Amino acid sequence: MTTTAHEGDVATAGAAIDILDVARGRVLEQGLGLTEEQILAVLELPDDRIPELLGLAHEVRMRWCGPEVEVEGIVSVKTGGCPEDCHFCSQSGVFSSPVRSAWLDIPSLVQAALDTAATGASEFCIVAAVRGPDERLMAQMREGVAAIKAAVDINVAASLGILTQGQVDDLVGMGVHRYNHNLETARSYFPAVVTTHTWDERMDTLARVRDSGMEVCCGGIVGMGETRAQRAEFATQLASLEPHEVPLNFLNPRPGTPFGDLPVLSAADALRTIAAFRLALPRTILRFAGGREITLGDLGTREGLLGGVNAVIVGNYLTTLGRPAADDLELLRELSMPIKALSSTL
Ligand code: SF4
Repeated sequence: MTTTAHEGDVATAGAAIDILDVARGRVLEQGLGLTEEQILAVLELPDDRIPELLGLAHEVRMRWCGPEVEVEGIVSVKTGGCPEDCHFCSQSGVFSSPVRSAWLDIPSLVQAALDTAATGASEFCIVAAVRGPDERLMAQMREGVAAIKAAVDINVAASLGILTQGQVDDLVGMGVHRYNHNLETARSYFPAVVTTHTWDERMDTLARVRDSGMEVCCGGIVGMGETRAQRAEFATQLASLEPHEVPLNFLNPRPGTPFGDLPVLSAADALRTIAAFRLALPRTILRFAGGREITLGDLGTREGLLGGVNAVIVGNYLTTLGRPAADDLELLRELSMPIKALSSTL
């Protein structure tokens, strides 16, 4: 029998079956992520099916993660001047981007943690623009994490680039509970984004982090010129890591970077991507990170939280301004989505 497939169908044993029916059975009912081919079918759904898609992604999130939203603040302990050439990043010292190299002192770090905790957030992530930490940065982490732990009850996470095994062990010893290291994009597209290190080097660090018992936080950026098939590839590669958290960024083209002139992802593609990632990763914390304002506008946070997202970064991002924290917290109240409490994440 020949059937004519239309958008949103996947071929199964010669027949065309609607992808959202497939997702309902596989993801919502069984808690299994979609395959790469199925994710691509979701990413190719026509615009008029986006509300239905977001509704399903929301049901999946509520069923497998619950209504809680994890709130996180981030602070940059070392900004700018990075030797790597990630083409989206205004902190690279290789491009003419306007971010200058700067270090944060320990009292400022502790104050940022206190400010983050005051919003009700359970997570505080210390970030540095480096290829990987040197001894100066590790010494500052030792002092900074100890000072934060003495001053405030909050989970401390870190994002310091590529790690050696000794550095992984040191971070565990400091009490860092989660490590962020993004794969950024699909393996097949990575060489078009970064030339100074490889996707496999990033994977090596992620394997060390996972084996150490720290929680793995790994995501990336959508809208860097990759195809929809590469977005599906990326979601599948992330799912194979079984990360605790996936931060999803949309490219905010920064002047002076090689990707500074790329068009902003359409709102429709951004929403399809959010929902597709939820259907690929039904049980993972899916965090809205940078770029949501520019791609989706003011209403985007609401649409995302009703379309599969269950974590937000409050306040500002590393090099761009986000929405005021109070706006996001008010939105969570309005949607009756409780902030995940610190005690339940320890
Ligand atoms: S993404 Fe990280 S490693 Fe890449 S240039 Fe920016 S700060 Fe450096």
